[in-house]
Amino acid sequence: MSSDIKHRIIFLGPPGSGKGTQADLLSKYFSIPHISTGAIFRETLENDKELGPKIKDILAAGNLVSDEMTVNIVEKRLQSDDCKNGFILDGFPRNIDQANSLASILEKMSLPLSYCISLQVPEEVLIERILGRASEGAGRSDDDEEIVKHRLQVYKNQTEPLCKFYNDLGNLVEINGLGEVLEVNKKILEKIQP
Ligand code: AMP
Repeated sequence: MSSDIKHRIIFLGPPGSGKGTQADLLSKYFSIPHISTGAIFRETLENDKELGPKIKDILAAGNLVSDEMTVNIVEKRLQSDDCKNGFILDGFPRNIDQANSLASILEKMSLPLSYCISLQVPEEVLIERILGRASEGAGRSDDDEEIVKHRLQVYKNQTEPLCKFYNDLGNLVEINGLGEVLEVNKKILEKIQP
């Protein structure tokens, strides 16, 4: 898909909402990078001898890594050449301070945000989906029931207020995340300028 429009998109959605999958599909459709801070941190945990041990307990408990470390990582990533034609952020920002930092980074780079896509899925479905994923062996080490509930709580307290933040800026697109992966993808594409 070729287009002169540079899509700079944020995905918001609780754990289990399918935002990673949807961000990936959209990234392929528009040929722009999918930047998942969760994936970056899991990679850091595996391979970075210095930073890995510092974030191990935080990730295992389902808490948020410090804003300072997270914002630094994202700022460097957004300066890479492959982000020139747009990007999709998945899992960042996670709180109001990170959203304000992102706004300053994008302002410095003269890059306006295009959309904030919020995927909405009822809590019972989220818990079912994540625990299902865990029992099939496809889960992550933070997919344990208590930790899942904690991650959902962290989302509600710290990340959900970003819906209002981006709605006030006129960037919010709300999408019902129930249904087949490709159906949800279609609903998202219908809301995005080609
Ligand atoms: P995710 O794959 O997006 O669910 O992220 C997995 C874990 O990585 C989270 O539970 C946090 O510990 C950490 N993480 C991911 N993104 C962020 C962020 N923007 N700020 C702080 N911690 C994050």
